[in-house]
Amino acid sequence: TINTGDADEVASVVALAARLRVLLPLPLADAYDYRAPVGAVVPVGAFVVVPLGRRQSIGVVWDGDPNPGLSEKRLRSVEQVLDAPPMTATLRRFVDWVAAYTLSPPGAVLRMAMSAPSALEAPAPRAGWRRAPHPPDGARITPPRRRVLDLLADDTPRAGGQIAEAASVAPAILRGMADAGLIEPALMPRQAAFTRPDPDHPGPSLGPEQATAADALRAAVSRRAFSTTLLTGVTGSGKTEVYFEAVAQALREGRQALVLLPEIALSAQWLDRFRGRFGVAPALWHSELTPRTRRETWRAVAEGEAPVLVGARSALFLPFPDLGLIVVDEEHETAFKQEEGVVYHARDMAVVRARLSSAACVLASATPSLESTTNAATGRYASVHLPARHGGAEMPDVALIDLRRTPPERGHFLSPPLVEAVTQTLARGEQAMLFLNRRGYAPMTLCRACGHRLRCPNCTAWLVEHRAARRLQCHHCGHVEAPPEACPNCGAPHSTVPIGPGVERVLEEATALWPEARRLVMASDTIPGPAAAAAAAQAIQNREVDLIIGTQIVAKGWHFPHLTLVGVVDADLGLAGGDLRASERTFQLLHQVAGRAGREEHRGRVLLQSFAPEHPVMQALVSGDLDAFMEAEANDRRPGHWPPFGRLAALIVSSEDERAAERTARDLGLAAPGGEGVEVLGPAPAPLAILRGRHRRRLLLKTRRDIAVQPLLQDWLAKVTVPGNVRVQVDVDPVGF
Ligand code: ADP
Ligand code: ZN
Repeated sequence: TINTGDADEVASVVALAARLRVLLPLPLADAYDYRAPVGAVVPVGAFVVVPLGRRQSIGVVWDGDPNPGLSEKRLRSVEQVLDAPPMTATLRRFVDWVAAYTLSPPGAVLRMAMSAPSALEAPAPRAGWRRAPHPPDGARITPPRRRVLDLLADDTPRAGGQIAEAASVAPAILRGMADAGLIEPALMPRQAAFTRPDPDHPGPSLGPEQATAADALRAAVSRRAFSTTLLTGVTGSGKTEVYFEAVAQALREGRQALVLLPEIALSAQWLDRFRGRFGVAPALWHSELTPRTRRETWRAVAEGEAPVLVGARSALFLPFPDLGLIVVDEEHETAFKQEEGVVYHARDMAVVRARLSSAACVLASATPSLESTTNAATGRYASVHLPARHGGAEMPDVALIDLRRTPPERGHFLSPPLVEAVTQTLARGEQAMLFLNRRGYAPMTLCRACGHRLRCPNCTAWLVEHRAARRLQCHHCGHVEAPPEACPNCGAPHSTVPIGPGVERVLEEATALWPEARRLVMASDTIPGPAAAAAAAQAIQNREVDLIIGTQIVAKGWHFPHLTLVGVVDADLGLAGGDLRASERTFQLLHQVAGRAGREEHRGRVLLQSFAPEHPVMQALVSGDLDAFMEAEANDRRPGHWPPFGRLAALIVSSEDERAAERTARDLGLAAPGGEGVEVLGPAPAPLAILRGRHRRRLLLKTRRDIAVQPLLQDWLAKVTVPGNVRVQVDVDPVGF
């Protein structure tokens, strides 16, 4: 007998399965429906090629029911199911989660998970040649042909260009040999090989405190359940070696590990240490990979061939089938926040991805964010702390130089006590560093005759002089112009003067003071990539450099064993402006810079030039009392429900038309949500009121911690009509405002 109830159900499943919801990597509001290919079973998560308008797109078969209202006639068919591992349910849930949290279209998030669709395009067959297994008798073997056959004697396919070069024959020879049946086309093997890191490769042996910390992290990984651990410890305490043990444990468990680094281009020393611990280099993921490496890495991750991957924030969206551990190193770094497109914070999303993957998450920093510190204090995160530097090295001695009492000479930027300290350090044959977080020669140029300041034509920003490159530059939009012969305002000839220092100007002063010292400038424009960073680190380690002058890139986890003095040229620099986190950020940056001084046998010294030596940040740096400082910060923010004690979201309204931006911002202000625990600040000019020619207004939504901001934002945005020439960008949990 037939159970008609069941039959109906089966029929409806088949009917539904005939339609597929396909999410496309585009900023569309929702997935689109397509007709399933006849006779094929297409699993959810499969990558498919579908028609879209007059083009094609790769998409992913997504969860949820197709729209039954859509008529059969309007439905277009899936054209192809790609031969790639389907996107896992975990990654699909992650895409949905990030989209919902950041209020981004799911397709825009999917785009990150597909690493731009190029990662999926069928790898171009890498054609080569090999010896024909049964060459015809009597084929003519000329000397060039003989050389080619000898080269191919081992039966490994080789690329045509490579054969032509190695056998010194013209490419036409190969064609002729193929026609004669002597060689035949063959596919070449994949190039990138991902060797498995060895968890039991002998690495450095851990000190007792490190061993205890490593035990805790290993245990977290072994539980194979979600947890977050905040790993703290002063610079040089060996946090990296400790979390390597968590990576080793993930490998032993047969799961994958992901390590996020804020600045992968500067991580040569880190990679050396990884090789030291695991015997091989990890797979890498960052924006500078070639399309081919990108594709191969993406596949290797998806197929579980790359068990450890080190990457920039975008690596969070890679298709790990079984992620057991995510480490976010230097978790306080703002580089983890993506500000363009889908606006998200990789540290926070790492915790989410770990939860969805039942994985352990480790956040490591010597200067953790107040967010993570608070989560550890309330017990949401476990915490593991390394109290001392590895090998008994002492923390540097930090002292202030009061610029009001001992100012530099007129037109100079290094005060007498700092000059004296550098002179002595160099005389002892040790290394010194001068830190100033400003690229170029001078941050501003002024006309002596009329007081006019040179501004970027596209932004509310001063033009920065780069003297070596002989140009003025906007650090926000990239605008570049030649230094003017005459003031553009009053026409006075040769009247402009530089105001304030950048690293180039500090270099100029240092060159005059210490002409014998070998100097190296470390800034993003002098250290443009991984190779330059590795070379700089090597030169410093080999003592080929006496004096380092650097911007914030010197604060990034370097290990300089011979560096004993760090001078901070302008310790107050980050404190100006209304940024909620200005103090926290300044503390983190300067503490990290200070941490470069003194390792092993030498105690380091740090001198901070400041006009505000009594400021809590300066006092905290001198006392080294991180906990007291963070507690004071917490006490400042708690009463007003500022993050992390409340929630914050920003709406940035921008348009090339100032009045249009103004009007939309005003409309949003009028439609602002209210109620208990909800507050809207603004509209007001955004921190960069004009950026790349767009006028920007900002509104901030601040709520109590127990209120979700997303529904409020959705309702709010639905009330206001935004004209076509105005853009409203949502930034949930904004940083830097
Ligand atoms: P942190 O990340 O806490 O600043 P690192 O992990 O960078 O500290 O370690 C600082 C330096 O000490 C590195 O050069 C590292 O190789 C070294 N180091 C740390 N732990 C050990 C160890 N157990 N054995 C040998 N060297 C170590
Ligand atoms: Zn500009």
